[in-house]
Amino acid sequence: MKNFERSTDAYKEAVDLMPGGVNSPVRAFKSVDMTPIFMEQGKGSKIYDIDGHEYVDYVLSWGPLILGHADDRVVESLKKVTELGTSFGAPTLIENKLAQLVIDRVPSIDMLRMVNSGTEATMSALRVARGYTERNKILKFEGNYHGHGDSLLIKAGSGVATLGLPDSPGVPESIAKNTITVPYNDIESVRYVFEQYGDDLAAVIIEPVSGNMGVVPPREEFLSELRTLTESNGTVLIFDEVMTGFRVGYNSAQGHFGVTPDMTCLGKVIGGGLPVGAYGGKREIMERVAPVGDIYQAGTLSGNPLAMTAGYETLTAMNENAYREINKKVDRLIEGFTAAAEKYQVPLTVNRAGSMVGFFFTGQAVTDFDTANQSNLDLFAKYYRGMIEEGIFLPPSQFEGMFLSLAHTDEDIEFTIRAAEKVFAKL
Ligand code: PLP
Repeated sequence: MKNFERSTDAYKEAVDLMPGGVNSPVRAFKSVDMTPIFMEQGKGSKIYDIDGHEYVDYVLSWGPLILGHADDRVVESLKKVTELGTSFGAPTLIENKLAQLVIDRVPSIDMLRMVNSGTEATMSALRVARGYTERNKILKFEGNYHGHGDSLLIKAGSGVATLGLPDSPGVPESIAKNTITVPYNDIESVRYVFEQYGDDLAAVIIEPVSGNMGVVPPREEFLSELRTLTESNGTVLIFDEVMTGFRVGYNSAQGHFGVTPDMTCLGKVIGGGLPVGAYGGKREIMERVAPVGDIYQAGTLSGNPLAMTAGYETLTAMNENAYREINKKVDRLIEGFTAAAEKYQVPLTVNRAGSMVGFFFTGQAVTDFDTANQSNLDLFAKYYRGMIEEGIFLPPSQFEGMFLSLAHTDEDIEFTIRAAEKVFAKL
């Protein structure tokens, strides 16, 4: 058994300092019945904890590190930029460069605004969509996470399509009632909402591949059906590509599926491991944003040169060939896990989009939040703890996807498959 003495001590100190000892809840490892593992450093596909254990990392800071940890290109550029000053509160050339690159690669984006997190991106996009349409209500999908803005931290009540209930104390009901929630992949429920509330429906926001109930891809035609409905109703279609952007493919999920929304939210990969978000879309919509337009949104550190540099280096390294390379590794990982699950009769359903992978401990197809909830969480927790012992660092929740990077080697993949075989044998 691994000894986590230093992590345990650090956690004891941290719980008095920060709620749960962490700065974001999932890092607390609660759903796998562990306490947090404190990390010290990472290089390539590997991450090292403060007790000296090495892991092959499939968390990758929850997605951003598509080149792996401390990529030389990113680190060298960051060193140079840091020496020139960390923030100016005035425009810099690197903002133009990253903006141009994103515009070139993401079909829906004619113009964009950089912000500091995915949460900020979705909050801002909703404000713009509401201002642009002069409507109030928004539609989101059960099991989709769009950050922790009040309008989006909403759970459905019972029923097919329901007006939202606050998911957290502190979210006023007056805000929640403007968020309507329906099951993912269920176009009939969406149609019903359009019939009932279409006149006041400002936006539909969706993860084009859901990554926050585990990985759940859209049913074929679901995104194009949404596109048709929103277009005919004058509702803004927002793809939240904070996770899928530059992860699912060279042109993000919208390029991959060939469906172009009106607005797109980005984060994670476009910051290459530094704090970034962005929202963008049609010029006509984005020109409503201040100072050109009347919809206000601002940020002291937005477009920060360090974050822009890390993002630019990351995206330029991710050419089309790089995506093909990562995808081959994902193919092999899935093949190995599937064979091991069959051999040891572990019920396992695999969902995947590019280098986002979801292994669910259920024999049933996972297409929405209800079916994701059929997973055996005890089995997941045992698998998780087993994989940690084998030196594999995975997201500590059944409802989070795992990510691969360009730095993962064929040896890493084979090592991971062997680890899964050992763990499955004992489940
Ligand atoms: N949207 C999606 C799809 C996400 O996965 C996340 C975070 O995981 C967010 C928004 C929020 O981003 P952030 O954590 O940077 O605020």
